[in-house]
Amino acid sequence: MNLPSLVGAMSLRAKLATLNAAVAAALLLLAMLAWQSSSDQDVAQARQVRLAEALHLNKQADMVHDALRSDVLASLLIGQVPQLAQEDVLRHVADDAQELEDALDRLSTFTELPAELIEQVRRNRSAARAYGQSALELARQALDRREAALAALPAFDGQFRHLVGELEQQGAQIGEALREAQLMAAREATRARRSLVWTCVITIGVASAIVALMTLAIRRRLGELCSVAQAIADGDLTRRASTGRSDELGALGAAVDRMAGSLNTMIDDMRREARLAAFGQRLSDALDMADREHQVCTVAARAMGEVSAAHPMELLISDSSRAQMERVAEHPGAGSPGCGVRSPYDCVAVRRGTAVTFDSSADLHACEHLRGRACGTASAVCVPVTFMGRALGVLHAAGTPERPLSPAQAQQITVMGGQLGMRIGTVRAFERTQIQAATDTLTGLPNRRTLEQRLRALVASGQPHAVVMCDLDHFKLLNDRYGHATGDAALRVFSEVLRDTLGDGDLAGRWGGEEFTLLLAQADALAAQRTVDAIRHQLAAALRGGRVPLYTASFGIADASMSSRPEELVQLADMALYQAKAAGRDCARIADPATLAMLGKDARRRDDPTGDTGIDTSIDTVTAEAW
Ligand code: GH3
Ligand code: MG
Ligand code: MG
Repeated sequence: MNLPSLVGAMSLRAKLATLNAAVAAALLLLAMLAWQSSSDQDVAQARQVRLAEALHLNKQADMVHDALRSDVLASLLIGQVPQLAQEDVLRHVADDAQELEDALDRLSTFTELPAELIEQVRRNRSAARAYGQSALELARQALDRREAALAALPAFDGQFRHLVGELEQQGAQIGEALREAQLMAAREATRARRSLVWTCVITIGVASAIVALMTLAIRRRLGELCSVAQAIADGDLTRRASTGRSDELGALGAAVDRMAGSLNTMIDDMRREARLAAFGQRLSDALDMADREHQVCTVAARAMGEVSAAHPMELLISDSSRAQMERVAEHPGAGSPGCGVRSPYDCVAVRRGTAVTFDSSADLHACEHLRGRACGTASAVCVPVTFMGRALGVLHAAGTPERPLSPAQAQQITVMGGQLGMRIGTVRAFERTQIQAATDTLTGLPNRRTLEQRLRALVASGQPHAVVMCDLDHFKLLNDRYGHATGDAALRVFSEVLRDTLGDGDLAGRWGGEEFTLLLAQADALAAQRTVDAIRHQLAAALRGGRVPLYTASFGIADASMSSRPEELVQLADMALYQAKAAGRDCARIADPATLAMLGKDARRRDDPTGDTGIDTSIDTVTAEAW
């Protein structure tokens, strides 16, 4: 492992600790070096001081040595010079001899001096002691035996000169040692400065290299983190920063990764929701265009194909009575899963009022309708289809336990269930309202508005057709005698007769009061006459049961050959009806187109409060008597 990879493998804490240690070690090294340098200089200076002191002692010994000779010479002058006292001279000689000896003694203790010099000092000390004793003897002799003393003086001078030479040589050597010490101190100072500078340079260089290495490694990892964070911010949520380290930067990388993961999940959720919302919107738009229930079923089948290409699906819807469910749509490619549930409330999803998912039909809690399928073990999603809390049916999708519907597909099925329920409920409510608006509530027959619309459509189609106006005879009397409820029952009986008698393409409706209109497709006046005869017979048969009192009806017939205008056809049939009334009632009359010109006048008469229409409208005595 090379140095950069070794540094790269270090934790952030280790790197920072290394930085601190490097700086601290550098400072410590520099401090020790400065201390050492100043100590060396102190030692050198102390050596210089000591050598200077030694030189001073040597000079002092030289001076004392000179003074000792003067003392000896002074002793020779005692008696001749009155100021010289013998005791004083002897004391001076003794003191100087001792002082000379002490000075050389002390000098011999200077270990800073070279060993040979110390040896020389020791030798000179012995010579000095001998010189001192000679001086003391000579001074004593000078008092008693002056001639002997004078004779011994040359020998004493010899000692003196020898010592002078020794002390001078000694002084020169000490001086030389002092100079050497000064040179050495100067060299030491220069060396200390140089080594301080070099050590500073090397220490600072090493410390800087360590700091640079560590900061580079930290910056590199921060840079990597930064680029990953930037990439994530730019939308690349697949990038990851974690290095598996447990230090602070590793924790930061792991946090960035977690943030990217959370963002990814959030965006995936938002995308899924957006896809679901888009699917819901397209389904809603498609259902908006489906005005009939069969159109809603077609949209449901197409939506099933969008949810999945391979999962069988079906929409089971109950009729308005909510008794029986039927399959009204199935997957266009994968077909129907074949759920056997027949009543909405036999379905567990409908009972619970929420979507139910079954992972496997083999599970203990699986729906019983899911078991025993031809395809074997199945998974399923069942979504109740409801409108305003009322169950309409169930949307059922199936798969295998290995390949069930995905959660996103299950959500789409749930959205479908909700929207289909809303649409089917709305379409049914709308159709109910339309039927109510088009139907007479008492008889259940189409009302006048519907009759007028159908007549206009028939006329516009150009197909042959006939219009028959019917009016119950003496109905007011019937009401008066048997009550209004019986009158209503009579109206319902007549309506049933009309319904039972007319063919598929024909339409019977209540025009108003006790008047009815028949619109007979593909019929002319004669065919209409036959239909009217059938009605009259059918009515007579129905009344034989005795549910209501006997009554009859009169009929006026017109057909498309007489006029191409709907209102004229009605007026012609109306005129013919009055002719039937005038003819004694309980009969039918075919309109004469020639009477169209009289319509205005007849209409006026009909509105006459006196009731004078020029037609006999007296009560049919047979019927009236029967009541
Ligand atoms: P005509 O043979 O000339 O047609 O005599 P009519 O009594 O049938 O005719 P009229 O126009 O004099 O009376 C019609 C009666 O029909 C009056 C009204 O009480 C009755 N009627 C109209 N609508 C209803 C209804 O909805 N229920 C009941 N019970 N009676 C109705
Ligand atoms: Mg009438
Ligand atoms: Mg009537």
